[in-house]
Amino acid sequence: MSKGAKLIAPFLIDKIHLQFKINKMKIIISEIENTENKTKEINFSEIYDEFNKEIPVKAKLKAEVLGDLIRITGEIKAEIILTCDICLKEFKKELNIKVEEFFTKYSLNEMNIDEFEIKQDSFIEDLNGKDEIDITDFVYQSVILNIPNKCVCDINCKGDEKINQYIRTEITDPRLEIFKKIKIEKDN
Ligand SMILES: [Zn+2]
Repeated sequence: MSKGAKLIAPFLIDKIHLQFKINKMKIIISEIENTENKTKEINFSEIYDEFNKEIPVKAKLKAEVLGDLIRITGEIKAEIILTCDICLKEFKKELNIKVEEFFTKYSLNEMNIDEFEIKQDSFIEDLNGKDEIDITDFVYQSVILNIPNKCVCDINCKGDEKINQYIRTEITDPRLEIFKKIKIEKDN
């Protein structure tokens, strides 16, 4: 394994609300192993209410079994609805996400995976002996990780007029006028 590769705890980011998603898409690793080229192409399309209630997240993925490693690569397309940090209005943002993630069947310590080229900074997730990968979760986590920290509807967003008006009113509160008249005299 290359030095830069990280081991991340399985799906750290909150998945609580995903537990209620009934029709989860899963791939069975032993089934892929039994195919001739040990590969499975996945065409994925699913609605996640928390991203966009109308437009599904789409993904074209490829799962490959490489000995004790499983590699998932491909692209995810999502049109998500975000709330602008400045004006608080909702806006749509299109995300095109390239993914490459590795899963290990067994704990990394027990494995010899030097023979496989793992790029620096690749994520490796331990399946702890499970024979399946939850693609619904995988896509969800990939989208979450790619939501920008700062959500602004437009680079020129000036904020909401009502909120600005409110702030202006507060600042010009006549009760505060008195403070403007106070002069602090400096000692010589
Ligand atoms: Zn805005």
